[in-house]
Amino acid sequence: MPHSSPCLIMKSAMHEFSITESVLNLALEKAGQAGATKVTRINLVIGEMSGVVGDCVQFFFDAISRNTIASGARLYFEPRPTQLRCHRCQNVFEPHDHDWSCPGCHETAIEIVSGRECYMESIEVE
Ligand SMILES: [Zn+2]
Repeated sequence: MPHSSPCLIMKSAMHEFSITESVLNLALEKAGQAGATKVTRINLVIGEMSGVVGDCVQFFFDAISRNTIASGARLYFEPRPTQLRCHRCQNVFEPHDHDWSCPGCHETAIEIVSGRECYMESIEVE
């Protein structure tokens, strides 16, 4: 089988592509403000439920950053687990096996506290 990126066969590739574009633009903006000549590393936070595939983001990043000072930068992904909060007892918990009811009082009215986020946390420049 020829070597190719899994992104190209993924339906969600456009999702990663638009995220990658905003990450690159933001990184270039920050690097410009810092007077940097090169972006070496970009730290991203990706929630478990955001559906973002890190490999795809790196793949697109390599392609679209080619003629910028962020070319060759390595992307690091910090996964964030899904966290839910119970509306009745305010207990914050992680869901188990798609069971989203509160382990304390079995309430099913819950809100998502984290896990959907996807953002750039910091960059390292030279
Ligand atoms: Zn509860």
